[in-house]
Amino acid sequence: MPTVETVRGPIDTADLGATLMHEHVFVLSTEHLQNYGAGDWWDEDERVADAVDQLNELKALGIDTIVDPTVWGLGRYIPRVQRVAEQTDLNIVVATGLYTYDEVPHQYEHRGPGLLLDLPRDPMVDDFVGDIRDGIADTGVKAAFLKCVVEVKGLTPGVERTLRACAAAHRETGAPITVHTSSPAQAGRLAVQVFRDEGVDLTKVVIGHAGDSNDLDYLGELADAGCLLGMDRFGLDLYNPTSSRVDTIVALAQRGYADRMVLAHDASCYIDYFPGPDAQAAKAQIAPNWNYTHISRDVLPVLRERGVTDEQVRQMLVDAPRRYFE
Ligand SMILES: [Zn+2]
Repeated sequence: MPTVETVRGPIDTADLGATLMHEHVFVLSTEHLQNYGAGDWWDEDERVADAVDQLNELKALGIDTIVDPTVWGLGRYIPRVQRVAEQTDLNIVVATGLYTYDEVPHQYEHRGPGLLLDLPRDPMVDDFVGDIRDGIADTGVKAAFLKCVVEVKGLTPGVERTLRACAAAHRETGAPITVHTSSPAQAGRLAVQVFRDEGVDLTKVVIGHAGDSNDLDYLGELADAGCLLGMDRFGLDLYNPTSSRVDTIVALAQRGYADRMVLAHDASCYIDYFPGPDAQAAKAQIAPNWNYTHISRDVLPVLRERGVTDEQVRQMLVDAPRRYFE
């Protein structure tokens, strides 16, 4: 039986169940937290307890697994996620990779083929492969997929290097890839271009944030290439309102693409882009539905009303995620 790594260890892919393919437990920069949050807006025990509550609520709504693409650049810190995972039955799958819209971190700037410290291969690849094969730091938790980004700036040298490093780690380990993309810039095309060039199996690629687009030609092109479309920002109406996201899913399902879509909110228990009670309250006002439960409570009933069948919902929530990790 094929297995997939979770924070609590490997599980049978058949046990992934209903899966939200892009949710963060915490988006929380270590440097931000250590220098400005401690003793001010951050209480570790309170926030862990709150995360457990939120994930248990999601589990009670019938979701079994979240796939968390929090990597370096978004504040990945596995011990905190382990504390949460120990206290909920929901499965949490974690990632390796790099979140940058432009340059690589200085820690990679001078090391690699042809750089100041001339190495036979990019140390990013070694770090990613190590996270997948041996586990992340000394936590014992293994990453199950790779994460990278193509934003509005397109394929800057740092972004392209990161994509090629993820592709190399994918070829070496078989781990699938999720790429955050800017839909207004139709950046999914650039990701596909690089991944094709690198010999990536495109059926193992989620084009993250594809659901910010309602351009059926663009989305169809990505799906026809084999990719999964991340319809994954429900509740972020400022990028695309729920009604439009729903229309697009209905249209794609009618065109036979239900097996090429996955669902999520890109939500988190806490995101330090909005630190402290005032900023958190403002966030809740700007995006009141940006939480883990919007799909289960509001979106799935509307999709069914609009003619999306139970079988098609199952393809998006259960079958496609399972296939991606097998
Ligand atoms: Zn995200």
